[in-house]
Amino acid sequence: MPRRTEKPGYEKDRVGPIGRVDERDALFARADLFRRFEDGSAEKEEYYAAHPEAREFDRRIADELHLGDRGGDYTSLCAGIFEAARVIARDAFVDGEPAPETVALTPEEAARRVKSLARTLGADLVGTGPLRSEWVYSHVGRSFGNAEGFPRWGSPVDLSRHTSAISMGFRMDPDFNQAAPEFPTVLASGVAYAIGARAAVRLAEYIRGLGYSARAHHVYNYRVLSVPVAVDCGLGELSRAGFLLTREFGLGLRLGIVTTDLPLHHDGPVDIGVQSFCERCEICAAYCPSGAIPRGEKTEYNALLKWKLDEEKCYRYWSVVATDCSICMSSCPWTKPSTWLHRALTSAATLKGPHQFLMVAAEKLFYGRPDKRDRGRAEGLSSLRPTRLRLHMRLLAVAMVVLAALGVRWGSVGLALPAGLAPRVGAATSVLAGAASPLGPLGWVGYLIWLGWTLLGAAVVWTFLAERTTRPALVALAVFGAVSVALGALLVW
Ligand code: SF4
Ligand code: SF4
Repeated sequence: MPRRTEKPGYEKDRVGPIGRVDERDALFARADLFRRFEDGSAEKEEYYAAHPEAREFDRRIADELHLGDRGGDYTSLCAGIFEAARVIARDAFVDGEPAPETVALTPEEAARRVKSLARTLGADLVGTGPLRSEWVYSHVGRSFGNAEGFPRWGSPVDLSRHTSAISMGFRMDPDFNQAAPEFPTVLASGVAYAIGARAAVRLAEYIRGLGYSARAHHVYNYRVLSVPVAVDCGLGELSRAGFLLTREFGLGLRLGIVTTDLPLHHDGPVDIGVQSFCERCEICAAYCPSGAIPRGEKTEYNALLKWKLDEEKCYRYWSVVATDCSICMSSCPWTKPSTWLHRALTSAATLKGPHQFLMVAAEKLFYGRPDKRDRGRAEGLSSLRPTRLRLHMRLLAVAMVVLAALGVRWGSVGLALPAGLAPRVGAATSVLAGAASPLGPLGWVGYLIWLGWTLLGAAVVWTFLAERTTRPALVALAVFGAVSVALGALLVW
């Protein structure tokens, strides 16, 4: 269970009043401005008169950033998935008038209903929290060139009647995400965003049907900063990489949000140890090909101490690979397939302490150092095929681990003979066969430790092979083999 806290973690890093962010300064909004407004239009002239330094960068991004364009046969599929989300980003879908009659619900019952519906609509994570005014954009930036159905560029955002937020997390396909920065990762983003968009729109519609005001926020029409809102709703914490880091899926998810005046019980924020873990771990920063993720200490930005992502560097790299990159997401130690091993390790990672340092070191040992790691990931469209090893291959590998452990065990018995330990060999042999131990209770304890260790080794190697990561599997084999030798020798002794 996550540890609920009274205040979100960022409160400790607040150094003054936080100003509302203008969505017009967001890079996607600026790319839209450059692409969709005529030269000489009032919107363009006013913006670049106030921000002359932004014009050249925006021109380049508008020219060069074409997400999902290098997907071969899959390019139109990808574009269609994003377009499906854009169609339902219009005001007529995300907002509307509440039903005239209100249904009376207790805050607990209301929260239970919306969370249950969110899960039915496809949310992998859902939480509720307060809507704080500082996370609401001050002005609209994404109007798609003042397209019909969208609010106009620069119109003020007013959500003052909304007191609560429902934040939903939608997991990105882990296999596709592991292909980062190749094309499959942008497909994974598109699918998660599209499911999130539909879920947010439907959930807002349901709440309006109960007689309360509700607005959906999703990929093409966020009017709130999705990450801090998700933090307030207890989905996770803000990470060094600048994304939401969750206990369940690491960085590998996309967000959909509904804001409302429906009286809701709030889950409250969580402390899952991300701040202290990220302090010790700079893996995403080391991997980031553009140097956009800062190393070292947090710095002040908008009255908050945080690791501030350099978005311009990041987007420049997006335009190079024609995807949303996601290398940081896929390389984060928390973004791993949901196996028992990773679930257990993630639980340990949520506790603050020096063991987090050891976990970062183990991550580098098993998965390779960021600067040296052979990513070994499938390139391009080949990653659209399943990346897990087939069952019989995994069974074979586990059988080899068990055989190796038995070999180690018998080998250590053999080693004991020349040392004049023959009397002990018979005892050890009968222990291995599971017979009543002539070694006494201690012998049984030793035997069980050896057996448990071997089974653990087999399961760990199984997990790594399931991920198709050969380096961790080999390192695990070596570690378990070495300790098996020691245990075997100890048992004979
Ligand atoms: S998406 Fe890529 S370029 Fe951007 S911060 Fe992450 S690793 Fe760096
Ligand atoms: S890779 Fe490490 S530093 Fe980056 S977000 Fe994940 S845990 Fe934090």
